[in-house]
Amino acid sequence: RGQCCKEAMKENLLLLLTILGVGLGILMGFLMRMANLSDENIDYFSFPGELFLRMLKCMILPLILCSIISALATLDAKTSGRLGGRAVAYYAGTTLIAVIIGIILVVSIHPGQGDPSKIERAGSSRRVSAADSFLDLIRNMFPDNIAQACFQSYNTRIVEQTKPNPAYMASNMTTPTMAPNVTAIPEEITVYTKQGGYSNRLNVLGIITFSIFFGVVLGRMGEKGKPLVQVFTIFNDCIMTLVYLIMWYSPIGIMFLIAGKIMKMIDPLKLVGQLGMYMVTVIVGLAIHGFIILPGLYLIFTRKNPFKYIAGIGQALVTAFGTASSSATLPVTIRCLEDKNGVDPRVARLVLPVGATINMDGTALYEAVASIFIAQVNGITLNFGQIVAVSVTATAASVGAAGIPSAGLITMVIVLTAVGLPIEDITLLFAIDWLLDRFRTATNVLGDSIGAGIIDHNVRGTLPPLDHEKYDEGMLGRPPA
Ligand code: ASP
Repeated sequence: RGQCCKEAMKENLLLLLTILGVGLGILMGFLMRMANLSDENIDYFSFPGELFLRMLKCMILPLILCSIISALATLDAKTSGRLGGRAVAYYAGTTLIAVIIGIILVVSIHPGQGDPSKIERAGSSRRVSAADSFLDLIRNMFPDNIAQACFQSYNTRIVEQTKPNPAYMASNMTTPTMAPNVTAIPEEITVYTKQGGYSNRLNVLGIITFSIFFGVVLGRMGEKGKPLVQVFTIFNDCIMTLVYLIMWYSPIGIMFLIAGKIMKMIDPLKLVGQLGMYMVTVIVGLAIHGFIILPGLYLIFTRKNPFKYIAGIGQALVTAFGTASSSATLPVTIRCLEDKNGVDPRVARLVLPVGATINMDGTALYEAVASIFIAQVNGITLNFGQIVAVSVTATAASVGAAGIPSAGLITMVIVLTAVGLPIEDITLLFAIDWLLDRFRTATNVLGDSIGAGIIDHNVRGTLPPLDHEKYDEGMLGRPPA
């Protein structure tokens, strides 16, 4: 028995260490709060965490390119079509379920009741028009320059920083403000970050579209294309080995990331009242989706124990919680699915990168709850048509959200404008977004992983046999024993 326990410990050592890192990070964060460091000093303090995030993010571009291309190039058109079709059906279905859970909860719990002036506004809101956001989504899918998509910028028309408006705060907040003036800024200008700097980020969606077409065409080239397929496969395996090394740094990285966030957060005592209830609503919704709906679907479709499967992706879930980014977590998710849950690498490498970018159950649920919360705070009752509009736009907004921290907060503008709610009120949610973001990111990653598990089970017999020459242990990137 002791032997078995030891084995389990050894196998899950990294996960245990990472969870310990989360615990220590929380503890350290609360202790260090007493030191009252300035924001700048907190950033210095959490530098080891920043490094962790940078290392993971550095893997995203080569990983997405190589994994999608190598997976598609080794499958025939019929099989990849079947895989893609199932993935899209799963993404759409589960996202909609998540939105519906969110709406039911926020309507019945009604967290927006009470005195709105008690909620603090923090930071600034970002302004984007709904139509532009939709077009941007499509634009991003078709980058005009693949090199640029790899190192720079989303085409995002934003940005006007708004300070909390005192007159608006003082008004009783029952009337929605006028639609904001959207200032179109040339495409070259990228996203304006909260800190007031410009951030360059990958156009992941564009890279995915490119890789899908490239992979399919390469696969159809037959013998002639083989050498290139091999290059991408080897590249991919190399990256996966790097990911393995980075993962061993995660306990420390995540500890500092979390400590830094706790040092910066607002006083938890301020969270009583509406904002607290709102937080509870979101977390309960995510828990229902993550612990009941998704495992239930896995059980129904595969007849296997969902919780055993979820235990296998523990490392990915903790990383999602620690980084608040599904894209940064992607490398870890792929490793968990292939190594621990035995998902076919071709399925994992195809379904996960796309899922991490467009399938965000947690974000969709969150956007639905948040926008109806804003309506409640303003004393606006939405009619049935508007609630349907919230569900549709929340789904679209979750597809449009990038897998990076707080992306869901930005795309919420789409939902708010669709039903005519005041966009400025996004600032109400800033103070606690850092925490809710972590829960919804973990749910997003869970949704992607369960989807890959179901699809893997579903297509298992129909995939061509795995070429063990290419996909043996060593090639999978596991470090040699
Ligand atoms: N941070 C989330 C993610 O990466 C997106 C969001 O803000 O909802 O999945």
